[in-house]
Amino acid sequence: MDGVKALNIPLIDLRAQYKELKKEIDAAMRRVLDSGVYIGGPEVELLEKEIAALTGARFAISVANGTDALTLALEAAGIGAGDEVITTAFTFFATAEAIVRVGAIPVYADIDTATFNLNPDDVEAKVTPRTKALLPVHIFGQPADMDALQSIAERHNLLIIEDACQAIGAAFKGRPVGAIGDIGCISFFPTKNLGGYGDGGIVVTNNEAIADRIRLLCHHGSRRKYFHEEVGYNSRLDPLQAAALRVKLGKLHEWNERRREAAAYYRQGLDGLPLELPADPHDSRHVYHLFVALTKDRDRLAVQLKRHGISTGHYYPCPLHLQQAMRAFGMKRGDLPVTERICDLSFALPMSPHLTREQQDYIADKLRRYARR
Ligand SMILES: *Cc1c(COP(=O)(O)O)cnc(C)c1O
Repeated sequence: MDGVKALNIPLIDLRAQYKELKKEIDAAMRRVLDSGVYIGGPEVELLEKEIAALTGARFAISVANGTDALTLALEAAGIGAGDEVITTAFTFFATAEAIVRVGAIPVYADIDTATFNLNPDDVEAKVTPRTKALLPVHIFGQPADMDALQSIAERHNLLIIEDACQAIGAAFKGRPVGAIGDIGCISFFPTKNLGGYGDGGIVVTNNEAIADRIRLLCHHGSRRKYFHEEVGYNSRLDPLQAAALRVKLGKLHEWNERRREAAAYYRQGLDGLPLELPADPHDSRHVYHLFVALTKDRDRLAVQLKRHGISTGHYYPCPLHLQQAMRAFGMKRGDLPVTERICDLSFALPMSPHLTREQQDYIADKLRRYARR
């Protein structure tokens, strides 16, 4: 094909991650299987300590997935029926699902064109007497403008719950995301920057009362076996996942650096093409969970790249305020113009710590050919 061998490049290469650490991961899994402890235990406790240290939070409570992390964070913060939570509609569904799940109302603010994160001016415009919390998402690994959001939260006495599901290891002005606001939620879904071999998640906080309440809720509202203070959930991270995650945690910083280097290499290789490349503000550490560009021609371009073995992604084809499941909240097309535009144009290129320069050259070459036609 064109004299160059065709490559097959997945959007996110999970098998390459496993291959790099196979010996250590297999040994860690075997250690758990041999231990006879399959719920809780030392692997889970150690992972919680290590994630607390990584984010600079006093407490970390592991849960079954990132969605539960958000739901439990909201519930433990006392957010419920009739309360409003201001968030973004440019995110995975779980962000707003958690808000609705606790009985609260998601109020969507528009986003910034360059960073795809919440636009603080629109956030402030959406504050009402019923607003209880802000729920920023560090989308694609890019920290939201936490200074501006914190000053809004202080002015209106609001909590901040960070959806850091895509952003473990990212930092805003030197502060690791997750523990900047009151509560932070992280997902260990396999494709995330720190992903397990199944579902997993964790909540981080400096607030002891909230940490205590989450720990209670995720164990059936029970502190003492068979005695229940309240109706809770069964939401736990299992030690097989914790053991594998602890091995990968040792690589997280290096892998995030490799993502950042791959992003920089894309910027060189794609320079001059009719693509809007993602912003990378100097005061933040973006960890490139995804590398999302904007183009008017996204669908045809995706088909064309697929023909050359290159997988791309569409994050997100439908903003949350226009989802069928959210129609009770009465929003319509036109209500969030920047969010809607970015949903129409967004185009994710392959990104992972194991993406090679050869693969990136091949992708850039195919994009250039397409642009020339
Ligand atoms: C992945 C993700 C979640 C949900 O995490 P799960 O572990 O899949 O439940 C929530 N919010 C965002 C922004 C995510 O990317």
